[in-house]
Amino acid sequence: MTKTIIGYPRIGEHRELKFATQKFFKHQLTEDELLKTAKGLRDKNWATLKAAGLNQIPTGDFSFFDTTLDTAFLLNIVPKRYQALGLSPLAEYFALARGYQGPAGDVKALSMKKWFNTNYHYLVPEFDADTQIKVGDWQLFAQFKDAKEQGLNARPALVGSYTLLQLSRFLDGKQAEDFVPALIDAYSEIIAKLASLGAEWIQLDEPALVYDQTIADKALFTSLYQPLLSHKHGAKILAQTYFGDVTDALSVLASLPFDGLGLDFIEGKANLDLVTSAGFPEDKVLFAGIVNGKNIWRTNYDQALATLAQLDQVAPQLVLSTSCSLLHVPYTTRNEDQIAPEELQYLAFAEEKLTELADLDAARNGDNAALQANETLFSKPRYQENAAINAKIAALKPEDYKRQPARKERLALQAKEFHLPVLPTTTIGSFPQTPAVRKNRAKFRKGEISEEEYTAFNRAETKRWIDIQEELGLDVLVHGEFERNDMVEYFGDELEGFRFTANGWVQSYGTRGVKPPIIWGDVARTHPITVAETVYAQSLTDKPVKGMLTGPVTILNWSFPREDVSPKLSTEQIALALADETLDLEKHGIKIIQIDEPALRENLPLRKKDWFSKYLDWAVPAFRLVSSKVQPTTQIHTHMCYSEFGDIIEAIDALDADVISFEAARADLTLLDILHDTHFETEVGPGVYDIHSPRVPSEDEIVTIIHKILARLPKEQVWINPDCGLKTREEPEVLASLKNLVAATKQVRKEL
Ligand code: GLN
Ligand code: ZN
Repeated sequence: MTKTIIGYPRIGEHRELKFATQKFFKHQLTEDELLKTAKGLRDKNWATLKAAGLNQIPTGDFSFFDTTLDTAFLLNIVPKRYQALGLSPLAEYFALARGYQGPAGDVKALSMKKWFNTNYHYLVPEFDADTQIKVGDWQLFAQFKDAKEQGLNARPALVGSYTLLQLSRFLDGKQAEDFVPALIDAYSEIIAKLASLGAEWIQLDEPALVYDQTIADKALFTSLYQPLLSHKHGAKILAQTYFGDVTDALSVLASLPFDGLGLDFIEGKANLDLVTSAGFPEDKVLFAGIVNGKNIWRTNYDQALATLAQLDQVAPQLVLSTSCSLLHVPYTTRNEDQIAPEELQYLAFAEEKLTELADLDAARNGDNAALQANETLFSKPRYQENAAINAKIAALKPEDYKRQPARKERLALQAKEFHLPVLPTTTIGSFPQTPAVRKNRAKFRKGEISEEEYTAFNRAETKRWIDIQEELGLDVLVHGEFERNDMVEYFGDELEGFRFTANGWVQSYGTRGVKPPIIWGDVARTHPITVAETVYAQSLTDKPVKGMLTGPVTILNWSFPREDVSPKLSTEQIALALADETLDLEKHGIKIIQIDEPALRENLPLRKKDWFSKYLDWAVPAFRLVSSKVQPTTQIHTHMCYSEFGDIIEAIDALDADVISFEAARADLTLLDILHDTHFETEVGPGVYDIHSPRVPSEDEIVTIIHKILARLPKEQVWINPDCGLKTREEPEVLASLKNLVAATKQVRKEL
């Protein structure tokens, strides 16, 4: 055996699964038809993988929504409230994934979280006092059987018990250890069944091993696997890790009778040193993740072969693989016509990465045909350097990252400047992107309307919403972001240095895909981006209108980054571009500017020791670079979507923004205690209602939340706002919710 992959995208080359599933949700497609579409997509994937010459093909990586949910569902880790609905398995599965509202009842979805350091989301399994783990019949066995019948050398894959426990929630006072015996039995049963169906190898995904491992973590891992591996029913077990190194876990992995270990040699930079110095267990096959599963650049063959040659020294049984599932990259570059062919040759999506594995395998067997072309590609400069921008970066001084005067002084000046009432009200930026707004953009893109017509429509929408905001009585207004389809793509489009795919969809969660831009070269600003629309909005009102920018860290994190320069450099380039935009807004009379950083938290390195040195130490300064030169009276806001930043609260305060708004409504406002205890200085708008649901919060409900906030924070520090942008909501909900928000605020103000 010489080459394989960990998993393949499943949404379909043209997002067929998304469209079929959405039709199924709208009852325009039967369950049978959906199953048929899914099978068609799997068959097509398998044919591609087979044609690429993979010796082993993973199965079970297909999912109707999420593979962590698949594993939980297979194991009957389904809370009672879903079972009580009495639905068909597929309907129950979707109830877990997206909630259910209908004749059988009303339940919310399981909560969803980012999958490690990716923009993919998994559903968080819930264990409680009623959890009865037992092996059912969901996807895994049928997919494997099907592949087997098609004559494929299939390797069933599922989430391993350790990672499953580490990613789950435990209720009713339960904890992970309580479920160890039942999980051992269940996984043993799964292995036995797969082995009896003819599985030679079984892949258990254990990416949680790349986090810091405590002694208790290692004990948990051993307690799960020692008994399980004492009876493998004749199958070979691969422990597959990805997204990092196994520095803490290698000794435990080595001591257990796994047959194969899958290690990531791309993101897990320390893995190479680790196995070349500590050695690799002789009895095991090394599945070497050597082709990047997460980024879209071509592999440098010389470098990959050099790594492999080092690995050969320590692991005689070597299988070439990807660094993680190819789920995180688009299907293929074949459908890209927006990128010039000479540039496209530098890119490799999932299908092209299969060729790379084959090329590397061939080169190791003496066939160097592909090697020369690859060397030529890497020997030429890929893009033209922007020397001016890099000179500017080289000349940056400490004071360029520091706004003057100190925040306390600035806030006092700003209070005089704006005369806002106590508990100022505002929103996060976007208003509903109605079908009409999207249709207008689609028409413009297709060339059916002129730029003037396109802009006129958006401006009319802005005018309508400025009037609405004034009528509602909000204090700081926004223009509504009608000209933006996506907060990153919009800026990438206007800046120099980005490339956009036509079809480069990557699954974000369930049926939702994203099309991340590619940071191709040096980023620079050649013209104002948001000034005209913001100035127009400001011209319509005497109240302040917030300028709205996407922050440099978020632009980087939601794009495919370069590999030839550091993320720090790219982020600084973006920051300088945005700094010019900020100053331009200020020059045109915009006094409040919001720099959104919803993705700042999510790229925090998986290991705590790397948080600052590998990330925050440059990410925080990059943010500061954007606003360091504005006047003291110009107020800088920022916004973050996830409030899970208790552990990096000082870094958030160090962004040195004047005001931050964040999602709090769902996280039961626990962050308030942290803000209080750490003497957080930035003014804060903890979202007072959850915009991710169509529900309209009542005035009383919001009053209660404001009281809770004021119990922890001084009133001078508090802003009142929803917890995120409103672009996904319907207009009537937005109007009703904001009306209650303003009324609740006014009610509380009277008490103060
Ligand atoms: N300003 C953006 C909006 O309101 C922020 C979006 C986000 O936080 N993801 O849509
Ligand atoms: Zn948000």
